[in-house]
Amino acid sequence: MSPLLRGSILWATEQPIVRSLTTRTPIFRQIAGRFVAGDDLEAGVAAVRELDGQGIAAMLDHLGEKVGSPAQAASAADDYIQALKRVRESPEFDANISVKLTQLGLDSGTDVALENMERLLQVAGETDPPTLVMIDMEARQYVDGTLDGYLQLRERHPNVGVCLQSYLHRTVVDAQRIGGPSAIVRMTKGAYLEPPQVAYSSKRDVTRNFARIAATLLGSGATVHLATHDPKLVEGARRFIRERGIPRERYEFQMLYGIRRDIQQDLVRLDEPVRVYVPYGTQWYPYLTRRLAERPANVWFFLSNLLRRGG
Ligand SMILES: Cc1cc2nc3c(=O)[nH]c(=O)nc-3n(C[C@H](O)[C@H](O)[C@H](O)COP(=O)(O)OP(=O)(O)OC[C@H]3O[C@@H](n4cnc5c(N)ncnc54)[C@H](O)[C@@H]3O)c2cc1C
Repeated sequence: MSPLLRGSILWATEQPIVRSLTTRTPIFRQIAGRFVAGDDLEAGVAAVRELDGQGIAAMLDHLGEKVGSPAQAASAADDYIQALKRVRESPEFDANISVKLTQLGLDSGTDVALENMERLLQVAGETDPPTLVMIDMEARQYVDGTLDGYLQLRERHPNVGVCLQSYLHRTVVDAQRIGGPSAIVRMTKGAYLEPPQVAYSSKRDVTRNFARIAATLLGSGATVHLATHDPKLVEGARRFIRERGIPRERYEFQMLYGIRRDIQQDLVRLDEPVRVYVPYGTQWYPYLTRRLAERPANVWFFLSNLLRRGG
């Protein structure tokens, strides 16, 4: 999508009136259901079960970001602890979790977010093997705090990983800084609206940078989660992995719930490890707007649904 169109959609959806109209209209909740498993943990677990039946692993994301106070951050961490315990009750599923540091209090201070992460990682470490806790990457102003936090946590916990975004110019250097055998990195293109001073605006540059950084990380001995629905990147990564003989435990393909199920299933048929990111919860609005802005066809799909219901 052109950066201008993507920017316009993200700008429009951030306006309070649009947000208020959208979140109050039941049809939007229904449409969000294409990308979100449901309102609560049990809906997330139902999606995990369904994926498991298809040979696909899962990563639960309790939707929420930029909480307003340390108390809300602690409560978000409690919700994740509940999710970890619930996952533990079903050891037959291959499921882990993914969190956002702003959901765990990064805006109140790095110490607040790290304290909550410590609580989560302690519970995640009680299983054998420990459950992986991935850290999502958010908008550019959080990248330093997220990477610094990740590096501190990694000193004590081998079961923590972090996401990198190939649209940012800085990511090549960040990957060199965090790469190596102890790193677990989710490689993505990036989902936020970033200015040209810090991010590539051409799709080709973002894609090339993804391939280049993923190759560097795999070469450094890191475990890499190739999180993309882009068939060319998936094919290129498979070729690279085959040629270099990268062992199965050092990579997996990851996709978002409800997106490109065809590629997810093709990869399973090819006996590749696949994991799907399963968001659940009532705070779906910001997540939905990012999925909308990624693809104009989604906006059209939403509007046509709205018109059909109205007519
Ligand atoms: C597991 C996972 C975790 C992620 N975590 C983060 C994170 O922590 N931080 C972050 O900034 N970003 C994250 N992302 C989002 C990512 O940065 C991209 O915005 C998103 O994946 C779209 O880029 P793409 O690589 O799939 O390529 P694209 O070129 O955008 O898409 C390739 C194809 O995938 C399909 N597709 C892609 N997006 C959509 C959509 N919204 N609706 C319908 N079809 C679509 C289309 O067929 C499209 O042609 C994550 C993505 C995944 C898969």
